[in-house]
Amino acid sequence: MKLDTRALRYLTAEDWRVLAAVEQGSKNHEVVPTPLIAQLSGMRGGNNVHKNISTLAKDGLIAKVKNARYDGYRLTYGGLDYLALNTHRKGDMIFSLGNQIGVGKESDIYICASPSSRQLVLKLHRLGRISFRTVKANRDYLRNRNAGSWMYLSRLAAQKEHAFMQVLHREGFPVPEPVAWSRHTVVMEFIDAFPLRMIDSVPDPGRLYAELMDMIVQLAQRGLIHGDFNEFNILIREKGGSGGQRDEETEEGSAFAKDATLTPILIDFPQTLSTNHTNAEFYFDRDVNCVKRYFERRLRYTSDEPGPFLKDAIKGIDNERRLDVEVEATGFSRKMAKELDRFVEPVSNEVEGADAVPADEDDLDDEDDEQDEVENDFEDVDDVKPERESKEASAFEQPDEATISLDNLALDDDLAVKDPRLFADGLSALQTSQDAVVVAQKVKTKKRAAGWAI
Ligand code: ADP
Ligand code: MG
Repeated sequence: MKLDTRALRYLTAEDWRVLAAVEQGSKNHEVVPTPLIAQLSGMRGGNNVHKNISTLAKDGLIAKVKNARYDGYRLTYGGLDYLALNTHRKGDMIFSLGNQIGVGKESDIYICASPSSRQLVLKLHRLGRISFRTVKANRDYLRNRNAGSWMYLSRLAAQKEHAFMQVLHREGFPVPEPVAWSRHTVVMEFIDAFPLRMIDSVPDPGRLYAELMDMIVQLAQRGLIHGDFNEFNILIREKGGSGGQRDEETEEGSAFAKDATLTPILIDFPQTLSTNHTNAEFYFDRDVNCVKRYFERRLRYTSDEPGPFLKDAIKGIDNERRLDVEVEATGFSRKMAKELDRFVEPVSNEVEGADAVPADEDDLDDEDDEQDEVENDFEDVDDVKPERESKEASAFEQPDEATISLDNLALDDDLAVKDPRLFADGLSALQTSQDAVVVAQKVKTKKRAAGWAI
């Protein structure tokens, strides 16, 4: 699912208005009937709306759906991408968009820049793009699920991620500064750093280890467990040290200069959970063990200290300062968290014999047989990372039960067609600034040097 920004250059204000109308109509309609699109766009009476619809459909921003009862359109992920980008552009959050720098399990990461040339990251959540492992359990479920509900869940994931990043950043945790959120996207500070995954040696592993464990404990003291605290989601920023030069950069990974100062930065929060969660201890221990295992295997470092343990970390927790409670109160409600949890479980990326949530044996047996089918069904499955496993396979057995109502899909910004005149001013295209290209190239080169495919 590539973000193709070419059409941004020539969409007219009316095209935007119609696109926003399709989004608005999706609140209550899986397939938005054409007359409703016309009505919501405020362009009744003219033929123009058909012209706009056909432009949008040609660009893949909406898709025609023939329903048993009527014909209509639905918003595509491409259309949702455009609406979100447009909001960020209008809010002066994003001025230019650069290359893709990452493909996560269920996200695409692009580099971008603000009007003042600050380097930022645009994370587009793509729930519904699934891993090979879970495909068997998910397959029937996916077939019975409409694209709109994946978009709704992606939107919840973005909202949750933004909400947690906001409180964590404010409280001084080392996380990227969140800049904006719209629909299924989060704009955040760009961290010019390697994921821990790419690092083979560090000058003082004991120190980094202690810092990471301390971060897990500090989070728990504020009521939170990251839930996916692993080498992919910890970026290691390097300061100083022989002018920032590495001693060596090999095919397998990178080594840091001996006198470099390394700061771990934590990313990726859609699966963050409360220390009050029923399985809090399991997830806390798994976060801890992810770090332990990585240090033992890759960095040849084993700590003498046992733990840390959740029960110690939350001893004497100050309820007034709980961030889990605060996030709940600021809009990302318990109900929303529950809906999302069924799909974005706090699961681990670990592959190598991790104590991850046990997978369904049947799923693993005929994994190879499934591959062709997967590729046919989901063209976009192009994960570069190990897959997550699904604990709650049973949740997928009853498509009806799991279908999510779109009623509470609230539009979060001025693109809701409250006043079509909002679209009157023409939109200029997002242009890829030279800076963004250069940064993206730099990241790419770094990753290539470390043997990463992008
Ligand atoms: P997912 O939820 O799909 O795993 P992540 O948030 O972990 O997505 O991002 C995927 C990858 O993109 C990361 O491993 C990292 O390499 C890169 N990335 C994500 N956010 C940032 C950021 N703020 N700065 C720099 N790189 C980032
Ligand atoms: Mg990640």
